Amino acid sequence: MVRRPRTIRSHAGRRKKAWRLSRYDIRGVQESQHSSCVDLPVPRRYSPDFLLLPLNNMDSIKGIKGVKDILPEETPRWRLIEDTVRRWALSYGYQEIRIPIFELTALFARSIGSATDIVEKEMYTFPDRDGTSLTLRPEGTAGTVRSFIEHNRAADPLPQKYFYIGPMFRHERPQAGRLRQFHQFGVEFFGTSDPRADVEVIALLWRLLSDLALPDLTLEINSLGSSDDRAAYKPFLRSFLSQQQALLCENCHRRMDTNPLRVLDCKVPSCRAATESAPRLTDHLSTEARQHFDQVLCGLVALGVPYQLNPRLVRGLDYYCLTSFEITSTHLGAQNAVGAGGRYDGLVKTLGGPSVPAVGFALGLERVSLMFQKTSSPLRDECLYYVAAFGEEGKKCGLVLLDELRRAGISTQCDYRATTLKAHLRQADRAKCRYAILLGDDEASLGSVILRNLESKAQEVLPLEGLASILKTRTFPA
Ligand code: ATP
Ligand code: MG
Repeated sequence: MVRRPRTIRSHAGRRKKAWRLSRYDIRGVQESQHSSCVDLPVPRRYSPDFLLLPLNNMDSIKGIKGVKDILPEETPRWRLIEDTVRRWALSYGYQEIRIPIFELTALFARSIGSATDIVEKEMYTFPDRDGTSLTLRPEGTAGTVRSFIEHNRAADPLPQKYFYIGPMFRHERPQAGRLRQFHQFGVEFFGTSDPRADVEVIALLWRLLSDLALPDLTLEINSLGSSDDRAAYKPFLRSFLSQQQALLCENCHRRMDTNPLRVLDCKVPSCRAATESAPRLTDHLSTEARQHFDQVLCGLVALGVPYQLNPRLVRGLDYYCLTSFEITSTHLGAQNAVGAGGRYDGLVKTLGGPSVPAVGFALGLERVSLMFQKTSSPLRDECLYYVAAFGEEGKKCGLVLLDELRRAGISTQCDYRATTLKAHLRQADRAKCRYAILLGDDEASLGSVILRNLESKAQEVLPLEGLASILKTRTFPA
């Protein structure tokens, strides 16, 4: 890292030393990425890296491209999706794991594969203060496996089943359904190579998506065979691809040497056309891999989970073997994959653990949310009661009543700015509460409140004392 001290003027007009970061020597972080930075006075105890600000610091600071806020209108939908996936995972015996958001870069490079799009182009990699290369997690499997090994979980009885929900980070071109910070729900089933485990994770994904009533889903499935099967297949594929080279995109030219299977997965239409008649990996499977695949397919038939064979489905992460699957929807436009996964029997060993077979998937929650939004009516968080407290005594009693109701678990709102009954009722309406509890000085002195149904306008008098217990016994239609 090269630092260049410069003298600049502070706001008070005094001369100050500033440090400008002119170049990183860490792979993947280039100077051009910092071209819109200004010099700032740097207090000694801070590293200058943290003080690079946008050029015009009078502008309001905007969110980062491809990184979205999930606003209060959207959070009820997100919560419903998260609650649904969590409920399904728990019902299949998966336990929640919370893994860190950043890890050593080496973890992802070694597990996902250095010749994959994610590692080559999409990772958010940055130097720690001591120069260690760190990366914001682009997916959840690597961290889960790292944790599984680090905590010696393989010494506990197997199988073990985990699920996670959380943000992932990939530097991609933002568009509908493709973000730089996005969220995944994923499951990892460690400890058995039985094809029924593959069936279980696929069925779990299928069932929970069906429970969310997502439309027009297709499950595509393929077998990637063992690493020996792939090694035996690659020369056939390479020789086919070299005949088609002129028709392939630039990326695929590179992939032909580094990762030829990825050419089959390329989304560029000319590449897709050129590889239409490519030799199929499923024609080069060993007997064991073939049997495994057949048993997975039989299991899916037994459970009534419909599938389509897709011999081109190879997935963008190197750790997959045998079963590979993806669920797509025609409702998503270009980014049509909702979730994907497969078996990764060699990954625990690759990352320094014992040999433990595993299978899992990851589901993109933004894409689920997009589809859910299109097909279901909007959800909103509802507050049942509004406390309309006015007048000196009314306000005092109202504050205590609010606290009592909330402690009893009754959702209650109030606008402390409103001073008249009319203003309160307007706010209660805006907040879409069902009832207003009217509490003025008269009610306070009588020890009562008026409960007003905001839809029918019907009113009833109830005692202030013990109101929480009375309201708790009432049930309301959803
Ligand atoms: P894609 O082909 O859409 O790039 P992928 O093969 O890179 O997907 P995986 O790494 O298997 O995706 O991730 C599983 C799921 O996570 C995807 O099916 C998708 O729903 C979601 N996902 C992946 N990348 C993004 C992103 N940048 N923004 C939003 N969701 C994403
Ligand atoms: Mg991708």
